[in-house]
Amino acid sequence: MAVEIESLFTAALGLQAPWVVGKVELDTARGRIDFEVACTAERLACPHCGTADQGIHDRKRRSWRHLDFFEFEAWLHAGVPRVACTACGKTSQVSVPWAREGSGFTLLFEALSLSLCQGLPVRQAARLLRVRDKQLWGRVEHYVREARLRQCMRSVCQVGIDETSLRRGQDYVTVVHDLEAKRLLFATPGRDHETVGRFAEDLVAHGGELSAIAHACIDMSAAYAKGIGASLPNAQISYDRFHVVALANQAMDEVRSSEWKTESRRVHEALGALDARERRSILWAMRRNPATWSEKQTQAMHWLQRANLKSARAWRLKMGLREVFARARSHNDAGQAAADLKRWIGWARRSRLDPFKRLGATLRDHFEGVVRGMLDDRSNAFVEAMNGLMQQAKRAARGYRTTENFIAIAYLRLGKLTHLPASPFVRAAARAT
Ligand SMILES: [Zn+2]
Repeated sequence: MAVEIESLFTAALGLQAPWVVGKVELDTARGRIDFEVACTAERLACPHCGTADQGIHDRKRRSWRHLDFFEFEAWLHAGVPRVACTACGKTSQVSVPWAREGSGFTLLFEALSLSLCQGLPVRQAARLLRVRDKQLWGRVEHYVREARLRQCMRSVCQVGIDETSLRRGQDYVTVVHDLEAKRLLFATPGRDHETVGRFAEDLVAHGGELSAIAHACIDMSAAYAKGIGASLPNAQISYDRFHVVALANQAMDEVRSSEWKTESRRVHEALGALDARERRSILWAMRRNPATWSEKQTQAMHWLQRANLKSARAWRLKMGLREVFARARSHNDAGQAAADLKRWIGWARRSRLDPFKRLGATLRDHFEGVVRGMLDDRSNAFVEAMNGLMQQAKRAARGYRTTENFIAIAYLRLGKLTHLPASPFVRAAARAT
């Protein structure tokens, strides 16, 4: 009977000759199941030079954490043979089929760890697996590095380049997305023009062609445009809608905060019927889509819209620009989009609001790229979606948060890496019925 259980577990673990389960120990009190795995061969090929039929010098005892069996924490133990080779004269340890060299986890346990880290913060995955999060970070970094070495970038022709920061205003990372395959291609510390050069090198190393990049969607910082000019000769630049609208929000905030600070008496008079809390709710309402206003915000905004305040004009300008973008999304016509944008820039220029005059000038200077960005709705939507996923990746890296950790977890979650480990064990044969 005992023999049958051992051969059953040999099959369950997917072991093949010369490896067999020699002993199974179940400790219900400690919630553990321990498998003693034996190498039954008396002679083996030399792991160093491959010469067959060499003698075993000794066996080194090692242990590996494996997938739980039901509620039991499972461990594999084995005396791993060292082969003394008469051909090359070396004594070297054979590799075991269930684990990477030097790892205390089986491959299957590592594969499970990685798939948990794709969906959960690493710290939480570590807790579920009852390991230290540092142990998981090491695995994530290792497998991401291996998978990225083999990742193919041959067909890339549209990229989105963006910056993100791990902490507010510091530790910037530049990320490059493949807008068609919707995957993260590259991430690197910094946000200067050289980051684009580093991407270009990486692209070439993965089989991509610089001249094939026809389109790059970026924000209006000069650095990326400069980097594209230097490294991606055929890329037409388009400015991302998300960033342009963010600039309009910034301009509006600037007008509002300066007016409320320096002309507070006028603001109080104009919004006379509102108490302090209602006045504050205007702050949030101005930034939000009117469709999402609460009842209180709707009321407060009603007051703002009737008031003769700079803030009200700033809000109308911002909404006007949003409208220009929204219309472009529905008609998708370059001539119409250009005419609408030109009209808005004229409005901003005459607005007597400095932040909007500046924004108008910026949009005029980047006119063609802004119009291109208005028409490329697919990539814009993707950049926004990626921003959300980036935030999740940052949360996943929390608690052990270095730039390297963030980059590794971002690749794992957003890179669509095709060479991450799959189950190394042979699938059990289908049961004959
Ligand atoms: Zn040898």
